[in-house]
Amino acid sequence: MSAPTRPAELVLVGAPVYTVDAARRWAGGVAVGGGRIVAVGAEREVLALAGPETRLLRLDGSMVVPGFQDAHAHPLTSGLELRRCALTEVEPAAYGDAVRAWAAGHPDAPWVLGGGWRMDAFPGGVPPAGLLDRLVPDRPAWLESRDGHSGWANAPALRLAGVGQGTADPPRGRLERDQLGAPTGVLHEDAMRLVEGVVPLPGPDELAAALATAQAHLHALGITAWQDAWVLPWQLDAYRAAAAAGTLTARVVAALKWDPERGDEQLAELVERRARGAVGRLRASAVKIVQDGVAENFTAAMLEPYRGRDGGAGTSMLPPAELARAVVALDREGFDVHVHAIGDRAVREALDAFEAAVAAGGRRDARHQIAHLQFVHPDDRQRFRRLGVIANAQPFWAVLDGYMRDLTLPFVSAERAAWQYPWASLRAAGAPLAFGSDWSVSTPDPLAQIEVAVKRVPPHDRGGEPFLPAERLDLPAALDAFTIGAAYANRLDADTGSLEPGKRADLAVLDRDLFDPAAGPIGDARVLATLVDGEVVHAAPGWPG
Ligand SMILES: [Zn+2]
Repeated sequence: MSAPTRPAELVLVGAPVYTVDAARRWAGGVAVGGGRIVAVGAEREVLALAGPETRLLRLDGSMVVPGFQDAHAHPLTSGLELRRCALTEVEPAAYGDAVRAWAAGHPDAPWVLGGGWRMDAFPGGVPPAGLLDRLVPDRPAWLESRDGHSGWANAPALRLAGVGQGTADPPRGRLERDQLGAPTGVLHEDAMRLVEGVVPLPGPDELAAALATAQAHLHALGITAWQDAWVLPWQLDAYRAAAAAGTLTARVVAALKWDPERGDEQLAELVERRARGAVGRLRASAVKIVQDGVAENFTAAMLEPYRGRDGGAGTSMLPPAELARAVVALDREGFDVHVHAIGDRAVREALDAFEAAVAAGGRRDARHQIAHLQFVHPDDRQRFRRLGVIANAQPFWAVLDGYMRDLTLPFVSAERAAWQYPWASLRAAGAPLAFGSDWSVSTPDPLAQIEVAVKRVPPHDRGGEPFLPAERLDLPAALDAFTIGAAYANRLDADTGSLEPGKRADLAVLDRDLFDPAAGPIGDARVLATLVDGEVVHAAPGWPG
């Protein structure tokens, strides 16, 4: 313990403090001053720092953890979705009623926009032709799938977009068609841009409200920082506005979207956007490249063809040489590169690109990462450690649900099926591991996700069969990945991610000790309060502070 000269402004005692410091030390209290942690230690030691002006909070046996960080999420668009026709929390049988009700409740909305529908709600993973026209006959409608890789348009939306019988599949995209070849309204991957191009962009007020909604939602889950994994210029403007206004209480890393239609000439713009993005708690230090799609619509790039799909092995969004060129150039400019890769071929292509960057420029303190990692060839596991590439994992996906049973397992070999979401294998191979939710693809609740990481069973089906249980993590490993591991991925580890003197006072107070087996399932734990820079940004009803 160092000896601060002034009394602490805030002292928290009465609950075990899991510091996530190098020794994974437990403490009895935290003292905060000037937005930073001035001491973490035994209750008696931190109480000694309290003066007459100190706010003293006596907790009742719960647990204090570093603020959770999400290394891959889409909060701005998720916030928009929450304010639109959101199907994420709706049972598939009620989709029709929900869409009709939203349209009826918003008669003046020129479009019915929203998303969150599950592919496994429909036979073959695809909504049937004509359904959305019956639900919304009077105006254009556009609903994104929960994973964001497919969109569902009605006939007025297709008409506005100029999509018809004669429309060819664009590069990196595919249109669902009926037997006569006419588009049914479901568009995959870059075919979605056809309709997105005619959807009106949200205005500044709607964006500010969406960001506020998302931020409040995430703070209530104990999250103090996130990486937005797909930031277009209008989204960066929304973040900048909030940061400049002082309403951005979370730390946000914007991963600027790489445009696959353009090459190196976009670099100068990205550098300029990075400079403009350094406002308040906002940084735009990362660039996002999407290298493949998803397995459920056969666009994940695989080393071996899908079974029963006429030899198709998915789509590499960028030719491997072009991906490597982009990553080398971005690495040279000092960007942290965040690559989306689901199939084992896409993962390998991303690792090859990072290897090219190391060959060209040597190793530097880069926070390059590959997100999703559904299929990782065992030969590639060691490469994360060797290349210093972060494995950015979405723990909630590693379960036997409809996506896995009906839309994935029938189309891959048994050998490949066993290579999925290999979190324990990657960690055992020395890969730096960071967790992210990919919200709104799945829940942003870190506690529900941590339960899945340690059980490989979804919280709504606790008696179910674990999915590849050898890949379960222990609780300390899972907590690491949502705190210091994600902070490292976000380049915020020097200042956050653990509770240590000198670091920012970003922390969450939970209603129970996650390590206590008698305390109930981890996913049922709730956040009592969330602090950023020592200020309360979320408090549950009854919180004494
Ligand atoms: Zn994502």
